[in-house]
Amino acid sequence: MDCIFCDIIAGKSEAEILFENENVISFLDIRPVNYGHTLVITKKHYENFQSVPPDDLTHLMKATQLLASAVVKGVNADGFNLIVNSGKAAGQTIFHFHFHIIPRYYNDFRFKPDFKTYSEGSKKEIADKIKIEINKKKDSFYG
Ligand code: AMP
Ligand code: ZN
Repeated sequence: MDCIFCDIIAGKSEAEILFENENVISFLDIRPVNYGHTLVITKKHYENFQSVPPDDLTHLMKATQLLASAVVKGVNADGFNLIVNSGKAAGQTIFHFHFHIIPRYYNDFRFKPDFKTYSEGSKKEIADKIKIEINKKKDSFYG
């Protein structure tokens, strides 16, 4: 399988590595939104957020927490965005799951989505559809 992030883990491709332990590795994004834009990934290859098992997710979250504060302090940022792009439609281009930590500054740029307004009843209708899916999964999810 061709995966640039697996190549970085294997030392076959270069990256500016910030942190590494048995389970996770973190390095600078090659095309930063702001300087210090960081990626955090599991050493095992999982395609997306949904497929990361709980133990690895815990390792990943813990490292992400360490890295988020280090990045903010290291580049003197005012805050950060923690971003997951899951699926092509959401902008995922590398199918080895990763968190983006993007340092942010006051007035640097704005995400400007076209915000929607729920019509009468549609909020409950959408919530009900999501709740059906939660109920289908939650027993096996929590074991
Ligand atoms: P995504 O669009 O969420 O899949 O994010 C993939 C990210 O990986 C993008 O922000 C790319 O700039 C970054 N990227 C791709 N190749 C490399 C690489 N060799 N080293 C570091 N970052 C990379
Ligand atoms: Zn991979």
